Amino acid sequence: MKTIRLSFHYLEFEDKADLLRVNLFRYFYIDLSKRLFKSIGSFKAGGHSIAFTTDLDKGSLEGQFNSVIAGSISGLRNSLNNRRAVYVHRNSGIPLIGSVSFSIIDRNTSLIEIKPVTGCNLNCIYCSVGEGANSELTDFVVEPEYIIECFKRLVEFKRQDNSKLMIEAHIGCQGEPLLYSALPELVAGIKGAGCTHLASDRVGGKGIGRRADNNSDSGININKRNKNENNITVSIDTNGTLLTEASVDKLVQAGMDRFNISINALEPGLAREIAGCCYNLDHVKEIAKYIAKKAELLIAPVLIPSINECEIIKIVEFAKSLSKYTKDKKPPVVGIQNFLEYRTGRNPVRQWGWNRFYRFIAELEEQTGVKLRMSESDFSITKTRPLPKPFRKGSTITARVVCPGRHKGETICAASDRVITVRRAGSAKQGQEIKVKITGDKHNVFYGENLEHARFARISRFS
Ligand code: SF4
Repeated sequence: MKTIRLSFHYLEFEDKADLLRVNLFRYFYIDLSKRLFKSIGSFKAGGHSIAFTTDLDKGSLEGQFNSVIAGSISGLRNSLNNRRAVYVHRNSGIPLIGSVSFSIIDRNTSLIEIKPVTGCNLNCIYCSVGEGANSELTDFVVEPEYIIECFKRLVEFKRQDNSKLMIEAHIGCQGEPLLYSALPELVAGIKGAGCTHLASDRVGGKGIGRRADNNSDSGININKRNKNENNITVSIDTNGTLLTEASVDKLVQAGMDRFNISINALEPGLAREIAGCCYNLDHVKEIAKYIAKKAELLIAPVLIPSINECEIIKIVEFAKSLSKYTKDKKPPVVGIQNFLEYRTGRNPVRQWGWNRFYRFIAELEEQTGVKLRMSESDFSITKTRPLPKPFRKGSTITARVVCPGRHKGETICAASDRVITVRRAGSAKQGQEIKVKITGDKHNVFYGENLEHARFARISRFS
């Protein structure tokens, strides 16, 4: 018998009497019965390590341990709300392009959307994706190295026409990206994409239980500030509540260029009401000041008619007051968004039409002397060659069921390196192949319907 210690970068262990809790990326967990490890040996676990007293050699131990974790990963939960969660990794069989909720979206421009995680610590009354403590969505969390690989391929594809094309990687989740503990590693990896000495090239191992031989080393160097030699800028949408000075420093060090912070009111009671839960406005204002000194800052309020119209001018004035902290002594950009109603979102009021919204913006520009109407060219976003679609709206394909979808009744299927969100998938089981009619294909985001289930539903209606 000997003692062998296994250490992991993204896993943390908690001993809970008969159970071993394995935390993945801090906010996700699986609870495992200790009996599952009986054939391996006894163990002591804590922090990022687990030490086994065993007869096995190291290779066999790693293999058996990884297979226990892989066999239980379908029980993954989000610890914030106890919702079911899906881990998307290189061995999961879940492609990274095709979903509007997780991974990568390419809308045929120089801006690539990156969505490593879902789930939110706030519960905003206007949330377009219905996120927050009371929602019944399924969460997704994606392995950073898997995203980095795919992002790198996409950058190469887009640069076939222009090798110097400036790319923006925009981290904008259905939720709060600061809930993704591997954010610095992700930022460092995408910032370095396109470079042959890429940190992301040095990432070892695959899948769930990637080992960290040095406990603090993820394989991606987040301490070397990536100069923008690759013409890649990185930006993020965040509600700002979970940012600290230390995390801002770490993200900037990793390569973050711009923070877009949503501030919807400067009156604390109203700000709390809009957030739908406890909300520390003072903290968010302080962190905005800190970011202004360290990186580019964009303040992004959502104009919610009859709820915060009067607050928007105060937010613009707040942004102006930050000019004394910015490097160029200019105020941060204020990007006001028009509240829009969504089928799957929370809609406390009716949305304004675009004419009314732009009239409001024009009046505000006159009152404050600040340019507030933004377009893609303000962010240097250009059109790029379109990513080929392996199938089109209207076609019928065979796809494999890979995991549950984000909303009740949805299933995620995979075919030709794309995921398809299948609504009303019926009783199709994971691993099963089904015939899917593609009902939506815009920007390689695919929706479909299970033909067998649709046929069955039609027959039952008439029988
Ligand atoms: S912070 Fe964003 S994702 Fe979270 S609840 Fe508010 S609007 Fe939704």
